[in-house]
Amino acid sequence: MLSRPHGGRLIQRTSQSPDRERLLDELQRLPRLDISPEIASDVWNLGIGAFSPLEGFMGSEDFRATLYERRLTNGVPWTIPIVLDVSAEQANRLGKDVGLWYAGKPLALLSDIAPYGYDRQAYAKQVFGTEDRKHPGVAHVFDLGEVLLGGTITVLGEVETPFTGYRLTPRETRVLFTTKGWRTVVGFQTRNVPHLGHEYVQKTALTFVDGIFLNPVIGRKKVGDFTDEVILGTYEALVRHYYPSERAVLATLHTEMRYAGPREAIFHAIVRKNFGCTHFIVGRDHAGVGQYYSPYAAQEIFEEFPDLGITPLFFTAFFYCRRCASVANEKTCPHSAEERLDFSGTLLRRLLTERRVPDGLIRPEVAEIILNMDHPFVG
Ligand SMILES: [Zn+2]
Repeated sequence: MLSRPHGGRLIQRTSQSPDRERLLDELQRLPRLDISPEIASDVWNLGIGAFSPLEGFMGSEDFRATLYERRLTNGVPWTIPIVLDVSAEQANRLGKDVGLWYAGKPLALLSDIAPYGYDRQAYAKQVFGTEDRKHPGVAHVFDLGEVLLGGTITVLGEVETPFTGYRLTPRETRVLFTTKGWRTVVGFQTRNVPHLGHEYVQKTALTFVDGIFLNPVIGRKKVGDFTDEVILGTYEALVRHYYPSERAVLATLHTEMRYAGPREAIFHAIVRKNFGCTHFIVGRDHAGVGQYYSPYAAQEIFEEFPDLGITPLFFTAFFYCRRCASVANEKTCPHSAEERLDFSGTLLRRLLTERRVPDGLIRPEVAEIILNMDHPFVG
């Protein structure tokens, strides 16, 4: 059986016609708030139920509970604040309901608004474990407006994306998985291009379940990360050439990276649970950045959420071993460091500058996609 949605019920906050036309008219008469691409992605995810059981942006009580209890007020595990920030000035001119506009078009209604102030230091400290503004997630928190708006979302418009064909809703993935006859599905989160180490992890997990849901994150990332086009292009190539088509589904998740390490690993698992996954791969330093989290903190945190409703699969660091003549990890290979070749970003960069494919580290079809891109990294 596929996982039940988080909190027990798959939320749908998208309005169908003919109601939609009437609500769109209503929206245009409401105070207007223009939102960023990141907030628009959150609105979309709330609308399609990817963030079930949330039905909108968090009010002050759920926000506080998320910070200090890592749960919603109803006790359901939740680790990352889903919030809408505005300036104090904007908050003053908004009424009970507001129209959210994105890219010059009406996107959603935000109803029964409850504004509240909050403490940025506490937000950063609780979620990221640091107040260091060099941390990209912390820096983002200190850039937020002074006021957060809780409220229920009704999505009426579209968030356009160049990746429309790969954007599926939890309802769609659940139908797709069921049609394929999958009873167990492992989710794989990524913000990288796939090298053989990733493929090894994915296929090791896939050996024990019916299907794999490859789910790269599309949206704001830090400078130096791969661009969305490269990530999706390389995954298309990997799936086409190295996966049985009836065993793998590739779809995008549109949300920004928070780099919250352990808390974000729980969040990533919850979202994949909503898409129907029964298992979720957690690697070394999942959603980490710099040296802020210990390498396996994102795995250890799962012990504190026995009621999560999705099974994490933990992987240690992996490498290519010349003696084993395969990808291996600390648990499976007894050989010394001289025999081992690490998968690293540095190595991929060297590949790009030297325009060659290091043997045994990356599939040639994947390397070709990277080499053919003019700007593979976020600038
Ligand atoms: Zn070995």
